[in-house]
Parts: sequence; C-alpha cells; structure tokens
Amino acid sequence: MRSWLKKKIKQKLRGYKVDINKVDTSLPLVISSAKKVAVIGGGIAGLSTAANLSERGFEVTIFEKNEYLGGKLGSWKFQSNGETLQVEHGFHAFFRQYYNLRNFMKKLDIFKHLIPIDDYVIFYQDGKQQGFLGIDNTPGFNIFDLRKKGVVNLWTFINPLSIAYLKLLRYHPEKTFKKYDGVSFESFAKQTRMPKNMRLVFNSFARAFFAEPHKMSLAELIKGFHFYFLSNDDGLIYDVLDDDFEHTFLRPIEEFIIKNKGIIKRNSSVDALEYSNNKFLIQGEQFDYCVLSLDVKHAKPLIQNSKGLEGFTQFQQETDALRCTDRYAVLRIWTDRFEKDKTLPFFIFTDRLKSLDSVTFYHKMEKESEAWSVKNNGGIFELHSYSLPDDLFDDALIKQQLLDEMYYFLPELRGLKIVHEYFQHRSDFPAFHLNQYEQRPTVHTEIPALFLAGDWVKLPVPAMLMEAAYTSGAMAANAILTKEGLQENQLESVYSYGLLTKE
Ligand SMILES: Cc1cc2nc3c(=O)[nH]c(=O)nc-3n(C[C@H](O)[C@H](O)[C@H](O)COP(=O)(O)OP(=O)(O)OC[C@H]3O[C@@H](n4cnc5c(N)ncnc54)[C@H](O)[C@@H]3O)c2cc1C
Repeated sequence: MRSWLKKKIKQKLRGYKVDINKVDTSLPLVISSAKKVAVIGGGIAGLSTAANLSERGFEVTIFEKNEYLGGKLGSWKFQSNGETLQVEHGFHAFFRQYYNLRNFMKKLDIFKHLIPIDDYVIFYQDGKQQGFLGIDNTPGFNIFDLRKKGVVNLWTFINPLSIAYLKLLRYHPEKTFKKYDGVSFESFAKQTRMPKNMRLVFNSFARAFFAEPHKMSLAELIKGFHFYFLSNDDGLIYDVLDDDFEHTFLRPIEEFIIKNKGIIKRNSSVDALEYSNNKFLIQGEQFDYCVLSLDVKHAKPLIQNSKGLEGFTQFQQETDALRCTDRYAVLRIWTDRFEKDKTLPFFIFTDRLKSLDSVTFYHKMEKESEAWSVKNNGGIFELHSYSLPDDLFDDALIKQQLLDEMYYFLPELRGLKIVHEYFQHRSDFPAFHLNQYEQRPTVHTEIPALFLAGDWVKLPVPAMLMEAAYTSGAMAANAILTKEGLQENQLESVYSYGLLTKE
C-alpha cells in the first residue's frame, strides 16, 4: 500500500521533474550574423545569460559594478592584521532540485566541488536541537513523518483547524497568489494556532527568504514550501561547495565565457541606458539586446535614469513597485577556538533571540578555510541575520548582538579571541513581502530587445533564490535565441502544482 501510494504521488508530481520549454531541435544552434548583447550585472543571473549566449556565437559583454563577479555569490580578498584573506558574500546551500543550475555546473565541471551536508539542523532557545535526518523523502509522507521529530503530532492531523494546512499541499501558480499574497505567515500561524515547533520551523524557513514572519507573503511561503519540500523527493538535504566560490564556481564560468569570446567589464557600473530604434547605447557602445540582471536595489535607479524607456508604462510601473527586504548582516570571524561538538553539520539554523539566524562552520567546510584553521589552530565562523530588527542599526551593536547570540547557542565559544573579522550590513535582497506578486515583472518586457533576469523576476515555475536567478538568466537567453530563430536550451523544473491541486 505504502509503495503504491508513493508511486501515485510521484506520478501526480510528474516524476518530480518537468520540461519548462519545448526545444525545436531542427533549428540551428549558432548565430550566423553578428549580434551584440549587453548583460548588466554579473551575478548568477547575468553569468547564466552570458554563458548561454556567448556559447551560441553572440557577442556578449557583461558590465559588473564590483571588482569581482558573482554578486551575492561573490568572493574577494581583503587585508587584515598583515594577512591576505578570502571572504565571500555568505554561506550558500545548493539544493538538489536546483535542476538548471546543477545541469550548468555539471557541464562546466563545477559539480565535482559539491559535497553533501549531513543534516538540516535547527538550534532551539531551550537548548534542544532539531534535525530532519531519517524522515521519508516522498512528498506528503515527509509531512506525516515530521511527527517523529516533534514538529507536528497526531493532534495536528485531527485538529479541525489543521484543515488550513492543506493549502500547503495545494500550491497553484496563480490561485495561491490570488488568495494568499495579502496574508502574512504570522497571521496564518495565529489563525490556525500553529503548534510551537511547527511555527519555529516555518519561521526559520521564512527568514531564509529574508523576511520577518509578519511581512512574509503566505503565498510566497507556500510556493517555497512546495519548491523545497513538497514537489520532489530530494529531502531537505543539500550540498555546499567544498572550497572558496572564486575558484570552485566563478572562475570556471568566467573562463567559459571568455573562451566563447565574451567580454567581462569589472568595476563598470551602468547608471543609464539609452534606447532608440530598437537598440541600446551603453557607455558609448551600441547593442542589439540588453539583459538587466542587476539586483532590485540598483535596477530601479538605472531604469529611472535611462532615456527612451519612459513611454513603456507597464514596465515602468512594475519595476517601480519592486522593493528590497529588511537589512541583513553577515559577520565572518577567524578565531582561536572551535566548537566542541564535532558532529555538527557545516551550517545550523538558530531559533533566534533577536538577530542571529544561522552559524556556518567554515573551518570544516571549505578547503581554504580548513587550511587556515590547521595552520592557526582556530575556527572560522560565519554568523547571519537574515532580517535585522528595526532597533538594531549600529554596526558595532549588530556585531556584538550576533556574537552574544552565538555564545548563547554555543556557550563553549565564550571568551574566544577574534583574530580577523569581515562584516557586511546590507539591504539589497528582493522582498517577498505581502502583495508584491501581482506587479512583479517577468523575463519578457514591453520593450522587444530588453529582458530581465534575477531572483526577483516572476517565473512560470516555482524556482527560488539561486535556482530562480540561474533559470531567469537562461530564460532571457532562450528568449533572445528564439528571436534570432535559434534552438533554445532545455530548461527543467519541479512540477508547478501541488499534490492536492486540481489543475
Ligand atoms: C547572505 C545570503 C545567503 C544566501 N543563501 C542562499 C542559499 O543558501 N541558497 C540559495 O539558493 N540562495 C541563497 N541566497 C540568495 C542568492 O544569493 C541569490 O538569490 C542569488 O545569488 C541572486 O543572484 P542574482 O544574479 O539574481 O543577483 P545578484 O547576485 O544580486 O547580482 C546582481 C549583480 O549586479 C551587479 N550590479 C548592481 N548594479 C549594477 C550596475 N548599475 N551596473 C553593473 N552591475 C551592477 C551587482 O554588483 C551584482 O554583481 C543568499 C543570499 C544572501 C545575501
């Protein structure tokens, strides 16, 4: 019975993988005339577009504001106390249902750097730890199995208020947003009297989208839960890169683009476009196509400063409605101490007291960090706050608060000496807040030669975060390939409908 049901679930969810587009293999692969494409922003989305188009003979130029590529997956050097150290924008989890990003990583031989994390662990304030190892991976069964972990109990399944949780299994790409984009996760949790442990799990999940529960759109959360937990049998276990992003991930992509004659302009912020006669003038150079793959924070002023785009009202309204989330902070510290529990995974979520959401143990994850750690007999920890409280603004106070909370969850680290530190306090992540969805722009715009890419772009599939960034970039590339009569690249996704959704 159990295996029959599992088979039915897999069938209903289309084998956990569907094609996003239909590729006409009779069309040519490579462009025969010279076409120039400007890609503004060298994060995952921009690199995706640039790699996919340069390979097909387009003359691609990436304009990147920073000295380094990768955006939020960036990595760069800095000096501290006479040492040159490498730091990254922050820890990143590569989930197994990131089908398009992972296919790309396989193609460029980056995949070999992925190593699995042992468990998805949450540290609670009362000292308990919550892991998810050993729960059934089949969607639906995994929810039922959460009772083994104390996240839900049998009462949760028979309580009449729990009927509301069926929404989670009824993800629908349009109806879910129509009904629940104006409802916050917090009000839903209150209304359904969500059990404490279940609420804690969802809170940490909501924070992974950089939103406080009272601001997080329930529709986006349902989509996230569908994408990460209820549409595939990959479980919550994910992979991480085994070494610094610069040489495991970014350099191979850069080399691929350059091999295909792409041009990468670093330290090259584009502050305005000029659009006329279906062409773009950017920093004095004319382009046939433009892909805006910058982050939300910088996309808006660029569009507002540009000439020739004023008359495209839908485009203007949609991009004007874009918002960033609350501020977030990343503190990496190089220390003279280690955590006691050597069995902990590379990354843990914390049920935060005020600001600390996660701790990463770099000294056991990335080779370069491990080498520093062996040489100096110290640890490298990274502390994240995905949404800083409104009353915490001062950098020194934020750092102290993050450290105090780390000592609360890992008391044996009290008294450690910080040898080096790197601190980031930023606000450039797209908001998945209430009522944002309807106006969110898509890859295609009203302007025939202009496309959008990034984790903030509305997609026809439930992909999120890095997978959304990569997929949107690849979709922008596909749109340009189609315009030029060329074969698209095949893209995949989890199925866009929930286990109990009627299509
Ligand atoms: C701390 C942290 C942890 C995260 N953890 C995870 C995780 O575990 N798993 C996951 O899937 N995702 C995670 N994410 C999200 C993930 O990093 C992003 O979704 C993804 O990297 C976004 O890529 P992007 O290309 O859309 O945007 P970005 O990475 O923001 O790239 C935009 C690029 O545009 C450039 N730019 C901006 N303005 C201009 C301009 N005017 N001219 C030229 N260039 C410009 C920027 O410098 C940047 O390089 C995390 C994010 C953060 C911040």
